[in-house]
Amino acid sequence: MAQQGTLYIISSPSGAGKSSLINALLTQHNEAGNMMLSVSHTTRAPRPGEVDGQHYHFVPVEQFKALIERGDFLEWAEVFGNYYGTSRAAIEASLAQGIDVFLDIDWQGARQIRELMPTKSIFILPPSRAELERRLIGRGQDSAEIIAGRMAKATAEMVHYNEYDYVIINEDFEQALFQLRAILESQRLTLANQQLAQQGLLQQLLAE
Ligand code: 5GP
Repeated sequence: MAQQGTLYIISSPSGAGKSSLINALLTQHNEAGNMMLSVSHTTRAPRPGEVDGQHYHFVPVEQFKALIERGDFLEWAEVFGNYYGTSRAAIEASLAQGIDVFLDIDWQGARQIRELMPTKSIFILPPSRAELERRLIGRGQDSAEIIAGRMAKATAEMVHYNEYDYVIINEDFEQALFQLRAILESQRLTLANQQLAQQGLLQQLLAE
């Protein structure tokens, strides 16, 4: 049996740098091609620069509801007044091929997925509220009203940090990326994973 991929759930309040961290991980450290980011469906409008099928599958509400009915989602949730969902297709197949899959989802989705399958979950926190606000404004893509709303909701998201296996404080980006990689590296070295990945070597080493 080949090594099974790990399902990583990564959550954070908007603006804590989660997307940039996942992007850096997948573009700079995926030499083996054994990591992928699941692309969610959402009913919210694309932000400038966002590409359909790459950042999200942008769908109308009726289509999203039809996908729920069809049982296409592993989990779905309403976040900031829009629907978001993780489609089942690709995830299970990728894990079976030994590919690590990343889900960038909120705490509600994380709770649902943990009920369904083994996961390693990581919560990314900003170093302070002031810095979080600065990053939300710095992004410059949303109105002041939306930013104020997200700051208010950031606390509601952050109180769930203690439901996760790992917590990373993203003060220095490179340090946070290093810590994320350390989690992945240690997961690949667990006894269970090494027994699958190193089957041939182990047989050889233990032969009389
Ligand atoms: P944004 O609109 O800023 O891209 O995302 C808002 C929030 O929705 C983020 O916390 C993000 O992690 C979460 N989110 C994105 N995709 C999904 C999903 O498929 N399921 C759930 N439950 N949350 C999601």
